[in-house]
Amino acid sequence: MDVFGKISDTIVNVGKDVSSKAKELSGVTKLKMDIRSKEEFVEKQYALIGKKYYEAHKDDDILDYGEFSVIEEALQSIKDMKKQLMELKGVKRCDKCGAEVPEGTNFCGKCGAKIDDFFEE
Ligand SMILES: [Zn+2]
Repeated sequence: MDVFGKISDTIVNVGKDVSSKAKELSGVTKLKMDIRSKEEFVEKQYALIGKKYYEAHKDDDILDYGEFSVIEEALQSIKDMKKQLMELKGVKRCDKCGAEVPEGTNFCGKCGAKIDDFFEE
């Protein structure tokens, strides 16, 4: 084997090594991603079942699940954060139609309802 043959052989081998390592790595990454997306899928199914159950039973007096109040609290804080977000954006939401209206406006531009200054408390 001549010098050029050896060199190109080495390059090919190094290339093979790198590409198989890359394949291994991308295989790991891909698997991790697949696992995560499957896990997320399962979580979503749980959530869907839970939501149906929650909505069917949230007003039941007999059931007293701690999770329900935790959900209620979370929903409330989401509501609060959305309110904060709108404050930051300088908008308010129309109580009647849900449209965003600029702060300082007294009437909804979409449905004409009176806007209460619920941010100024
Ligand atoms: Zn409106």
